[in-house]
Amino acid sequence: MAGLLDGAGLLDGKALAARMQTELTEQVKTLQAQSGRVPGLAVLMVGDNPASAAYVRGKEKACERVGIASYGTHLPTDTSQAELARRIQALNQDDRVDGILVQLPLPDHLDSVALLNQIDPDKDADGLHPVNMGRLVRGETGLRSCTPAGVMRLLEEYAIAPQGKHAVVIGRSILVGKPLALMLLEANATVTIAHSHTPDLAAVARSADILVTAIGKTELVTADMVKPGAVVVDVGINRVTDANGKSRLVGDVKFDSVQEIAEWITPVPGGIGPMTVTMLLHNTVWSYRQRLAL
Ligand code: NAD
Repeated sequence: MAGLLDGAGLLDGKALAARMQTELTEQVKTLQAQSGRVPGLAVLMVGDNPASAAYVRGKEKACERVGIASYGTHLPTDTSQAELARRIQALNQDDRVDGILVQLPLPDHLDSVALLNQIDPDKDADGLHPVNMGRLVRGETGLRSCTPAGVMRLLEEYAIAPQGKHAVVIGRSILVGKPLALMLLEANATVTIAHSHTPDLAAVARSADILVTAIGKTELVTADMVKPGAVVVDVGINRVTDANGKSRLVGDVKFDSVQEIAEWITPVPGGIGPMTVTMLLHNTVWSYRQRLAL
């Protein structure tokens, strides 16, 4: 148990992700021996957004580490909606592919919602298809969106049970905030979702036993917004440049001061980021097992 006087314990997503990837590597070896093929993940990327390119490279390297085959395609910025839809359909039909992911954001001329809806829900590695979102709402088994699933897995690892706790999620995106709120609800927390229109955010945040930030605003959450002894999960990833012109990543939470009063806290980087990639691998292996009935 982390002691309040010593500062918060670190929820070490990087270490857990490494352990999970080792387990997945073993699982893939065993399953490959049974089925005769490895799981496959296809990442479709359009355009030259450098952040997206770095994420895609990270995902492909992680696939390689655990023995998942990558069928990634990098398409030019001017790729049409029809061409991308055709690619998705082809991947839906491709038996080597168990997971399909469209790297967001897409260039403005493309309708990402319409494209995500064309992914076969059983290959929806990101868990963003309405069928999988619907399964989450109904509490049914299905592919769960990677970042919120990574948050839940990290809490579980540290035996932090949401049951009976007040969880506050700041952020209501389809990618993180909304599905995470539903997952916390499923785990029997009492859940509040706060967002950019929430009055007195500080008071709402301070009422949380478990506070999750998925905002995208550098160090918005300060120590006066956190209940002493709370669990703080920082999903935010913000790039800042310091006075020397050096750039680094920081979260939505002012780490140094909040870690003095919280019981547990995630670092940025090294918290939820590595868990997100690992849950993508987990989802791909899960789909593969479902599809091959292994
Ligand atoms: P988004 O922009 O879609 O949503 C941000 C949410 O924050 C919105 O719901 C908005 O209402 C809320 N918000 C904005 N300003 C606010 C304010 N001042 N007060 C209260 N609420 C406010 O972003 P997203 O896709 O959900 O991502 C959120 C952050 O998480 C980003 O920094 C993103 O880079 C990061 N992220 C990290 C991972 C990871 O693997 N760690 C994965 C996905 C997203």
